[in-house]
Amino acid sequence: MQKQPEKLTELLALLRKTKESEIDCDEFWEKGPSLAESTTALNADELASFLHHLEMCPGCRENFEILKSILKDSQEQQC
Ligand SMILES: [Zn+2]
Repeated sequence: MQKQPEKLTELLALLRKTKESEIDCDEFWEKGPSLAESTTALNADELASFLHHLEMCPGCRENFEILKSILKDSQEQQC
């Protein structure tokens, strides 16, 4: 018989960790626009949970990328 507890415990530990700092879409978009402008708008803890949300939530990631490209365009036009 093969044992495979290592990966399972790792996964559970990861789930437990992410649960603590998980934010939902509403929370994400409270500061998402600031984050799109500059990552320094958030502290390290916030940044970690926001980036985690982007990884977990394809919908927000898509909108976030769009927002970022819009901001980039308008910054380039100003210069
Ligand atoms: Zn989301």
